[in-house]
Amino acid sequence: MRKTADVVIIGAGISGLAIGVHLAKKGVKDIVILEKTFPGNGATGRCGAGIRMQWGVELNCLLSKFSVEYFENVNEILKNDVDVEFWQGGYLIGAKDELEAEQFRKNVTLQNSLGIESSYLSPEEAKDMMPHLDVSHIKAATFCGRDGHLNPFKTVEAFVKAAMDLGIDIEKNTIVTGIEKTGGRVSGVKTDKGDIKAPIVVNAAGGWSKQMAELAGADLPVYSRRHQILVTEPVEPLQSAMFMGFGLNIYIQQVPHGPFIMGRGDADEPTDLRMTSSWKFLNDMAETVTTLMPRLARLKVVRQWAGLYNMTSDAQPIYDEAPEAKGFYHACGFSGHGFMLAPATGQLMSELILGETPSIDISSLGIDRFKGDMLLPLESSVV
Ligand SMILES: Cc1cc2nc3c(=O)[nH]c(=O)nc-3n(C[C@H](O)[C@H](O)[C@H](O)COP(=O)(O)OP(=O)(O)OC[C@H]3O[C@@H](n4cnc5c(N)ncnc54)[C@H](O)[C@@H]3O)c2cc1C
Repeated sequence: MRKTADVVIIGAGISGLAIGVHLAKKGVKDIVILEKTFPGNGATGRCGAGIRMQWGVELNCLLSKFSVEYFENVNEILKNDVDVEFWQGGYLIGAKDELEAEQFRKNVTLQNSLGIESSYLSPEEAKDMMPHLDVSHIKAATFCGRDGHLNPFKTVEAFVKAAMDLGIDIEKNTIVTGIEKTGGRVSGVKTDKGDIKAPIVVNAAGGWSKQMAELAGADLPVYSRRHQILVTEPVEPLQSAMFMGFGLNIYIQQVPHGPFIMGRGDADEPTDLRMTSSWKFLNDMAETVTTLMPRLARLKVVRQWAGLYNMTSDAQPIYDEAPEAKGFYHACGFSGHGFMLAPATGQLMSELILGETPSIDISSLGIDRFKGDMLLPLESSVV
């Protein structure tokens, strides 16, 4: 393996790949991405790959708007023809109670003020859009037709291809075991295949980012939590939009090939690195979905699996240089929406690393916000 690099990126998930591609597009030559297994095997390949601009805080709206526009032009931007299956059937989001409906009114006002064409709907209007939804369980809904979902594996393929075309080295089956520092600056990494000297190291290790920070003696205020998801047998097209509910605790999409993919959160899940599957999830998910969509009761589940959400206490990401080690950058804490933020992550992290003015002001997404009383408003539009 090589002995030096200009930039080492830890993790070939969607974030690490996007950061590498953006740095290379800006002319950085000698980039290596180190991946302990294979690209996309972390949260990226396990996720729902949904993308929506309907958020409750301004920055998440802006970051995801950037990403929607990027995915709309992804082949031109990445200069390849991989079909990432970007399906813009919209997101229909249901409010469980009056309190949430009131919040949704505010969300739509915010979104519209940022140029996001979302609308506030009555339960009857939601029913017209999704006839198999039992709208007696919702008080209102919102909809944005440019939201949608992608195929996470094809999206990884598109970024890997772009990375390789740009001369980025992706070292699979290579575990980062140490981070070297010299005089308060990062100076390289140790791996199970040898050491690499580098003046810039990027922590894009997703659920394992806290452990990577610790290798550099850095304190990263994130934690990981298992999230589970399942896929059913394929059936005739029934649902074009993703349906989601925060209080209702569900997201459900029908992918172009016919299967439904659905997930929900569980606040009782332990905060560790387990990625096993549980009967409880299957049971809770079945109850949730058949209450809201009784027509799906006879659908057969093909498989369930799990991945890690890497969480911050305000459910917004961290984009920052570690105060403990100059040249060591974190892109993590995506709190369950890092797939859709990846294009913005790539762009903004490359600008941060190269000392350029960021395209979107991310000064509030630094690590310092977790000290004292600087926390951002909590993003409540999450499952
Ligand atoms: C069930 C589920 C559903 C989700 N649904 C959505 C969704 O609909 N939309 C959305 O936007 N987001 C969703 N997410 C969140 C999304 O998957 C993540 O935020 C995103 O994939 C994070 O990407 P990443 O590249 O930062 O991390 P990851 O994809 O986890 O990549 C990190 C990589 O680092 C590697 N790594 C770790 N330690 C080391 C080491 N020591 N040495 C070398 N490599 C290492 C790992 O192997 C991994 O490949 C979901 C997540 C889950 C689990």
